[in-house]
Amino acid sequence: MAKAKTSDPLEPYRQKRDFSRTAEPVGRVPVTEADGRRRFVVQRHRARRLHYDFRLEIDGVLVSWAVPKGPTLDPDVRRLAVHVEDHPLEYEWFEGIIPSGEYGGGDVIVWDRGTWEPHGTDDPGRAVRDGELHFDLTGERLLGRFALVRSGQSASSSAKEQWLLVHKHDRYAKKGWDPESLDTSVMSGRTNDEVKAAPDAVWHSDEPPSEAAHPVQGATGRPLSDEELDELAGLGAEGRWSVFGRTLRVTNLDKVLFPGRSGERAVTKRELLAYTARIAPVLLPYLRGRALNLHRYPDGADAKGFWHKEVPERAPAWLPRWDNPDADPGETRTYLVVDEPAALVWAAGFGALEWHPWTSPTRAPQCPDYALFDIDPGQQTSWPEVLELARLHRTAFEHLGIRAYPKLTGRRRLQVWVPISSGPGFDETREWVERVSRTVGAVLPELVSWKWQKSQRGGRARLDYTQNAVNKTLVAPYSPRPAPGAPVSAPITWEELDDPDLRPDRYTIRTVLERLEERGDVFRGVLAHDQVLPRVT
Ligand code: MN
Repeated sequence: MAKAKTSDPLEPYRQKRDFSRTAEPVGRVPVTEADGRRRFVVQRHRARRLHYDFRLEIDGVLVSWAVPKGPTLDPDVRRLAVHVEDHPLEYEWFEGIIPSGEYGGGDVIVWDRGTWEPHGTDDPGRAVRDGELHFDLTGERLLGRFALVRSGQSASSSAKEQWLLVHKHDRYAKKGWDPESLDTSVMSGRTNDEVKAAPDAVWHSDEPPSEAAHPVQGATGRPLSDEELDELAGLGAEGRWSVFGRTLRVTNLDKVLFPGRSGERAVTKRELLAYTARIAPVLLPYLRGRALNLHRYPDGADAKGFWHKEVPERAPAWLPRWDNPDADPGETRTYLVVDEPAALVWAAGFGALEWHPWTSPTRAPQCPDYALFDIDPGQQTSWPEVLELARLHRTAFEHLGIRAYPKLTGRRRLQVWVPISSGPGFDETREWVERVSRTVGAVLPELVSWKWQKSQRGGRARLDYTQNAVNKTLVAPYSPRPAPGAPVSAPITWEELDDPDLRPDRYTIRTVLERLEERGDVFRGVLAHDQVLPRVT
């Protein structure tokens, strides 16, 4: 509230929140950007009601209005803006969920952000107290001159003030402009639904709020530092590499592990380790708490690989691991669990070119929390036919009201992961996948074979539901595959099925990081295990 200045402008904000419960930032001494420009942010916030939080940096806090219909560039439209309490500057970066039952419970995306300048005053704090502020915004979506004008006295001292937000007639004005036609975050490219589906991805509640108040990547741990990357580049053929707080002995760094694609240089172990360390923080949420089966190719992708599951005795003591209580004598007992990024780097150094996590967590190894669909093309199946089968799956999931996430395998297949709440066993999950698959397959029977033996399939595709079994694994997102150029298993959106340039091995360890930077991680939604498999008859 814009009361006369209190000694601490954030006191009302603090009073509304119990910081032991809500993973929002505790207001700290704010730091204005070095270039001295004021920042603004607009967050699309789905709480009890959808609204846009319009926040301007003034005097070290984010002075805030809740705009139910959102800001607009249409100069003929006046938007109600309810003046709400100031927020700490760190909140500018907040994107994620606020737990239900708490103040503002719901999901938040950063809908726009940028810099702003007051117009006609040097003291915007005073202008706000006086009830009228004119300003210029330089955002990604909002541009040009706006005004905020107090429209009336509050009915009582506790009621919030009603203001109006308007865009002036200037060269940025656009008639009929609707903020709801832009429903993604300018920070991550994700929608509110996608952020809601995977709140872990953007906000780590087990970290102290002061450390969690960082860009989206903060959710997956810190990225690899330039120093760590430089250290690897500077090593000879072998040496000790300090990475993510661990020191690893790395050998044969210049050994070729993947032949190059035509016209490209081969991929060395050094390059694989660098990729692994860069992708590890992104991959961590998908691997944490799960046994990992390693597909090792110590002599490179051209040689024959083999499965390695047991953590070797000479492995470093700090490696996180899990003893499978259900292991029979002679079976693998102790599995690697990538609970920290350095563990994945160790695995790559150990020759694991492919990473295959279990579909059940170690805390409940008999209960999968993914249902897996695997479109396995036969010799006669063309890529457009694989895409046709994938589109049929999409339609099926839409009918069932199920969130499902496709990914390229980096080889010939296409997979779909469906996150589910832990509960049903593998048999039940497999039967459900089989029923959906058979329904899908019945639409294009000429493309699909249900024969177990490959030789009997007549070159047709298989919809392989049998991977839904304990200790069966599918390749992790972003895992390399043993093929020329080091292709990776890249998550895609359903819309990308219509991209004429899409190929199952389109992305490699050299290109997928750039894609992540541009698109964000489109697979994050699989981390929300909140779905119950609907009845399929
Ligand atoms: Mn809000």
